[in-house]
Amino acid sequence: MKFVSFYLFLFTFSFSLFAGEEGGWHSSGGELFKDAHNPWFVKNTNTIKYCFEHDQSSFSANRATVELEISKAFNYWQKEFEKSSVSNAVGTFNLGSQRIEQVSCGVETDIVFKFGYGTLTKKEIVHLVKPEKYIGVTIRKEYDPESLKGQGIIYISSDKGVHRYENPDGNLISFAWKNSKLLLFALIHELGHVYGIPHSGNGVMSQIFLDQLLNKYLVESFLKLPLESFLQPNTSISSCNLERKIKTFVFNLSPNENCIRIDVKKNGDYNLFAVNDKKETRLIGFLKGIYPELWDVNSRPASILQITKKQMVFTPKQTGFRNFMYGPVSLDQGYRGTLMINNSLPRAVYLKVRSNSFAIYGEYKKKTQPLFIMQSPLSILLLKEPIL
Ligand SMILES: [Zn+2]
Repeated sequence: MKFVSFYLFLFTFSFSLFAGEEGGWHSSGGELFKDAHNPWFVKNTNTIKYCFEHDQSSFSANRATVELEISKAFNYWQKEFEKSSVSNAVGTFNLGSQRIEQVSCGVETDIVFKFGYGTLTKKEIVHLVKPEKYIGVTIRKEYDPESLKGQGIIYISSDKGVHRYENPDGNLISFAWKNSKLLLFALIHELGHVYGIPHSGNGVMSQIFLDQLLNKYLVESFLKLPLESFLQPNTSISSCNLERKIKTFVFNLSPNENCIRIDVKKNGDYNLFAVNDKKETRLIGFLKGIYPELWDVNSRPASILQITKKQMVFTPKQTGFRNFMYGPVSLDQGYRGTLMINNSLPRAVYLKVRSNSFAIYGEYKKKTQPLFIMQSPLSILLLKEPIL
């Protein structure tokens, strides 16, 4: 397919210094190219072809690690999109339906992952002005307004040698990519941009995420952190953060059972399991009769597709005759339901389900209070005072 001839570079910044702010000028929105933040791939792209280049001398992670973490980052997003890909409604589009294929770098490659300064071309260096200012950056180089397909690079900065990422305040750790998990977090963030997800919230797509990730006061916590969901909660949720009396008198757990796991059933109900110190599980009850409260819904599209005039992918009927479409939605919602714990009377409860947290509220000792809370570990980490 023919790509547009002009060489359009587009940034999604992942570092605190914005080239656009230099000289005091700064514009928010109103970009010349309205499709600038579109996902690079929609339903007409069957396969995403990617390759990687690796500058061993300036990058702490080796080739095998880099290769593995790229595939993990793709898996992360595909899993997220699978959970939320429910929509054939007018004006909406799905993401992540493509097969992912690693190829040798060439003109047909959709995404070139570049690890370390030595992989950058002269033109890319000129464009980035000072690549050392970035921990990671995604550049869309081409966008075909007919097929709505993009092409570009994800650059992860060197962490050693003269061109390593800048650390002017001394707050960042050195040799970050010795930790493959940090590399994975960085790749997930940048790949999120490829899927059209802008900076938002305080999680993995936050504007300052990469700065936080490599912050020497936060990095230890990041290394311990599980990967959390971004769009929709996982279908299995655990928490060991249980108040002692509630654990005993509401959930009827025995002293060696300190955690609860909640699994979503196909019909929308939930199974509750006690988990003991040996990680053995026991079914303790159900959440049933769950129905959403219409006043307690907040839906946010994770990605928006600006429809170009020339596009040949969606029919006017599919776009709803609009010049934009909504991608997968992150849904915060409240539900009423009934908690049925073995050998106890049913209890009316309220569920607060967020993309990365889950809570059950109910009455205990004549007060409405949280009975079960699974908080976003990332949010907790970012709200915590640093350990100096
Ligand atoms: Zn970013």
